Amino acid sequence: MRDGPRGAHYPGRMEERSLETQVSQAVDAWLRWLPRWQPATHRGRVAPCRRCYGSPVLEAAGLGSDVPHGVQHGLSTRVKTIIDRHVGRYTELNLPMLQAELDQQSARNRARSYRPDEGLDPEHEGLPLDPDPQPGQPFLFTIEGLANEAAGEVPSLPPLTEEAKAALRQEVALADEYANMVGREVCQLLLPHRMRIHRAVSEFVEPQVESMLSDLTRSLDAPFDPNDLR
Ligand SMILES: [Zn+2]
Repeated sequence: MRDGPRGAHYPGRMEERSLETQVSQAVDAWLRWLPRWQPATHRGRVAPCRRCYGSPVLEAAGLGSDVPHGVQHGLSTRVKTIIDRHVGRYTELNLPMLQAELDQQSARNRARSYRPDEGLDPEHEGLPLDPDPQPGQPFLFTIEGLANEAAGEVPSLPPLTEEAKAALRQEVALADEYANMVGREVCQLLLPHRMRIHRAVSEFVEPQVESMLSDLTRSLDAPFDPNDLR
């Protein structure tokens, strides 16, 4: 993390080493959770997860699209937390306008009376709050709808001047650039963990997927079983 905008403060060597430790600990935590993973029994979601779909982090970890989404999501969220924390620290040190904006937003969030999207386990965080509606059967109320109503009770932020908006956009771009840089470094740091990630998937995920597939094959075959037609 030595390149980037000039004059900016960067986490020092100690923190750089700790990024490696943090990635390793995130993989440890995911490995501890994985034995509890079970295939989802409900209908699959229609929209792909924005956090996992095409994620370079998952690619670096060797968790390709042949791995169930829940397994991917548990790791991508844990890794995202690390990146977010680093970007948060960088923003705090270098990007005062963005920091002020974020502070205002979090004050606003704290004022909300209903916050169903907070305090979730990594496996559930960042997923849509409600299941996909069935065609022709809309929900009477949704968790997201209730959360939006609660957000609507909080007064909105004062509008920014054009100048302030331009400065803020520039800071957002810098934060993005920094996030990409940390992301690339995290991907490098994940490579040495591929083997243990792969072993854990073979041990805990593949057998469950295979048994699910054979159940599915059996239930698909059943209606056409010639014995049933007699
Ligand atoms: Zn996901």
